Amino acid sequence: MRDFSNKKRIVVKVGSSSITHAETGGADLIRLEKLVRELTDLHNGGKDVVLVSSGAISVGLKAAHIRGIYYSGKERTDGPDEKLKLKQAAAAIGQARLMMMYQKLFSEYNQTTAQVLMTKHTIVDNVNRFNARNTFEELLTLGVVPVVNENDTIATYEIEFGDNDTLSAIVAALIEADLLILLSDIDGLYTDDPHTNPDAKFIPEITKLDDTVEGFAKGSTGSLMGTGGMATKISAARIASACGCDMVIANADDLGNIHRVVSGAEVGTFIHADRKPDFFIEDFVSEG
Ligand code: GLU
Repeated sequence: MRDFSNKKRIVVKVGSSSITHAETGGADLIRLEKLVRELTDLHNGGKDVVLVSSGAISVGLKAAHIRGIYYSGKERTDGPDEKLKLKQAAAAIGQARLMMMYQKLFSEYNQTTAQVLMTKHTIVDNVNRFNARNTFEELLTLGVVPVVNENDTIATYEIEFGDNDTLSAIVAALIEADLLILLSDIDGLYTDDPHTNPDAKFIPEITKLDDTVEGFAKGSTGSLMGTGGMATKISAARIASACGCDMVIANADDLGNIHRVVSGAEVGTFIHADRKPDFFIEDFVSEG
């Protein structure tokens, strides 16, 4: 039995593949609409809600008609990195578009939203971290649903989280959330990759993140746009659990899973919080 009835502060993460069309990378408005309805309903029920949303790069590549050259390009470190520049430009275009859609959809329910863009530097730097925490606190007090993403336009490898699974756990730790819902393109955690191993078994609950669990995580991801496979979900779980936040990995195919998870239904993989008394968010982030 899961009892999440006294959860007050909830972070929900959606990946690019959950809110964009696989064929074109363009925004999937039907799914965005459902997502916003679910989140507003949670907020109406008295919860503090934060959304960590990917999709900026995908939407930007489509909008700028540079998807083809981006995916055929190569990353390079021995000279001007054309691919990186395309990605950063796409993120700048796409983030604004995405936010415009979120603003519009949330406003249909009279729900105020806000944009918070972060890099690792936001967490590592004491002043930035303090400011970010205060901003979240104030936004939540004001009844706003913040929409968070990595600042992909300025984040390169030294300061990027690289994946929003980790970012969402960092946000959960920063604002002391008590539940993190990671929506993925898979039902939850399996003992092996179920796409390649028919004997892989679904794991409904994890009480302790030990070496066996870490071994289940595969680095691969099935989607073109997302960067997070199971490995990043486990590393997110490590952060969430250590800061005292319960976490559920559930399938984004049905966005109704958001309210199902919150109401305690046996959906996805539940990873129990295991608070470390000496938890410091900075210990989980280092600039490369
Ligand atoms: N921040 C990236 C974006 O908005 C996605 C990162 C991820 O897929 O985890 O497009």
